[in-house]
Amino acid sequence: MPPKFLEIDKKRKQMKSNTQQSLLIIYTGGTIGMIEDTGDKSLKPIDFNHISKEIPELKKISHKLKWISLDPIVDSSDIKPENWELMAETVYKNHYKFDGFIFLHGTDTMAYSASALSFHFENLAKPVIFTGSQLPIGLVRTDGRENLLSAIEIAAAQNNNGPMVPGVSIYFENKLFQGNRTTKYSAENFNAFVSPNYPILGESGVYLKFFKENIHYPKLGDKLRLHKKFNPHVGILKVFPGITKEFVEPILKNKHLRAIVLETFGAGNATTEKWFITLIISYIKSGGVVLNVSQCLAGTVEQGKYETSLELKKAGVFGGSDITTEAAVTKLMCLLGQNISKKKLLIRLNNSISGEIN
Ligand code: ASP
Repeated sequence: MPPKFLEIDKKRKQMKSNTQQSLLIIYTGGTIGMIEDTGDKSLKPIDFNHISKEIPELKKISHKLKWISLDPIVDSSDIKPENWELMAETVYKNHYKFDGFIFLHGTDTMAYSASALSFHFENLAKPVIFTGSQLPIGLVRTDGRENLLSAIEIAAAQNNNGPMVPGVSIYFENKLFQGNRTTKYSAENFNAFVSPNYPILGESGVYLKFFKENIHYPKLGDKLRLHKKFNPHVGILKVFPGITKEFVEPILKNKHLRAIVLETFGAGNATTEKWFITLIISYIKSGGVVLNVSQCLAGTVEQGKYETSLELKKAGVFGGSDITTEAAVTKLMCLLGQNISKKKLLIRLNNSISGEIN
C-alpha cells in the first residue's frame, strides 16, 4: 500500500523530536549484546555501562539513556511467558518515568516477544521498540550499531500530540514494523524480518520517515492496562500431506492443551479425512479452542472458500484471518490468562486487540 502521508524529519534540529527524551534501554539477551572475548574468541554479554566504548556515536545522542539488563538474560530461543511478564512489568513500572522503551532482544523469537508485549498492554501510548542484530555489537561489520541508534531516534521521535510511534514495534535493518505483524524469515540476511500482511510504519535512510496512516494511535487519556498473566497451554499443529492419526490424536487428546493454532494450507485448508475432523470436533466439544492460521506468509484464511476448509468451519474452528502464527500463539496465551468465559474469549479472538488482524 503506497503511503498516503509521509512525515519526513528534515529539520530534526528544530523539531520537537530532538528535544531531550528519556529512554529506558532493556537488554534481554541475544546477539546484539555480545562481544567477542579477545582471548578464546567466544561470545559473551557486554557490560552496558561501557557500551559507548563499542558505539562511540552514543555520546553524541542528546537523549537521556538508561541501560538495564533483565535478570536472567536469555538467548531468545529460551524465552517463555515468564520472561514476557517480566518485560511487561518493567515497562509498566517505569511507564511514567520514561518517554520510551527499547528492548534489545535476540532475533529468533523477537516476533513472538513483540506480539506478546502488544497483548500484555491496553492503551499503550508510549513507544516500545524491539531491536537486535544478526552480528554481535562488538564486531566491525555489526548491523547492531545502526539498528540501535535508529531505534533510539525512533523511540524519541515526537508527533504534535506525543510519541510518533506509540505501541510495540520492531526496528530492523532500515524498517520499522508493527510488532505483532512481523515474522523472522531469514537466518542470515541483515533484513531478517518481514510483515507481509501489514505495511511498514517507517523507514530510515538519509531521513527517518514515518507512515502515520499505518500507525495505531490510542485514544488520549485512556488508562494503561496490563494483562499480567499468560497461560502457556497453547500448541501449534502444522498440517502436512500424509499427516497421520497416530501423530494428531495424542495432541488433540492432551487434557492440558487449552487452545491450538492449526497451521493450514493456503486460505485455511486441511485434510478432509474423517478421523481428522472427528478429532477436531471432539477437542472443541471438550472446551478447546482451535484457531486456523495459514502456513503461507501472506494472505488470509477464508474458511468455507474450499470444501477442505468448510469441514473445519462446521466443526467450530475459528478463522484466524491474516494473523501471524506468532501473534496467534501469544494472543491465545494472553486471552486464556485472563480467565474469561469461552464465549468472551472467542469474541476477543475474532476482533483486533492491538492491530494484529485486519
Ligand atoms: N539465538 C539468538 C537469539 O535469538 C540469535 C540472535 O540474537 O539473533 O537470541
